[in-house]
Amino acid sequence: MLAELSPALIAEVKLAAKLLASKRRICILTGAGISAESGIPTFRDKQTGLWENYGVEDLATPEAFVRDPKLVWSWYQWRRQVVVDKAPNLAHHALAEWQYHAQTSDQQVTLITQNVDDLHEQAGSSVTHLHGHLWRNRCGQCEAPYQDQSRASYDNQNAMSFDEALLTCPHCDGYIRPDIVWFGEALPVNEWQTAEAAATNCEVFISIGTSSLVYPAAGLAQLAKQNGAQVIEINPDPTPNTIVDITLAEKAGMILPLLIQEMTA
Ligand SMILES: [Zn+2]
Repeated sequence: MLAELSPALIAEVKLAAKLLASKRRICILTGAGISAESGIPTFRDKQTGLWENYGVEDLATPEAFVRDPKLVWSWYQWRRQVVVDKAPNLAHHALAEWQYHAQTSDQQVTLITQNVDDLHEQAGSSVTHLHGHLWRNRCGQCEAPYQDQSRASYDNQNAMSFDEALLTCPHCDGYIRPDIVWFGEALPVNEWQTAEAAATNCEVFISIGTSSLVYPAAGLAQLAKQNGAQVIEINPDPTPNTIVDITLAEKAGMILPLLIQEMTA
């Protein structure tokens, strides 16, 4: 793996590893890029095939769900089908390993994600989700959780397949929706507070697979920076950015195993 990276990039990874090894409080934010390395499309890009005539405003907003709940529900059931067989990659595993080792060292590694899949959990990480959970549902009207739609129940129960038929709430008869933060909706309060606190208190902030220029990642990176943290970005497609101290312009699955190996060596 080392041989595939350029000498300049390896030097940067070593620099980052040295910095991280000397710090105690680390805040990590992951975005679509880390899931894309597991084959999960971003779903924010232009849709293809079945869904090519629909935009985000037709599929992932509260207004769309009011206008056409069946369409929105069908899209999420389709997304679940696309995602169900995807597995964590080397980046997810490296982060889980880091968190595991941190338990016995004096490092505190807080992991925040903008992704709605459960690949971090599958790898064994403890993670805070800013944009909700693809595998959970709730009532669109009274917000009551609808059963616990864990991934396992989709895998194992025929009763809860990827059926496109709308479900209704046993309490208020409202339509059931995915427990996801749609465009135009506020981020969940507790999760955002966790993220803000971790960003404010950290000594190093690492942004992985998401641009440090786009909200909410930008807000958290900025907050970390203002409070004296150094900022590392791992992104094969980095945006020129004055906030970032170290840019590692390569896939997270290439960088993270090496970074963690160097750090714990
Ligand atoms: Zn309800």
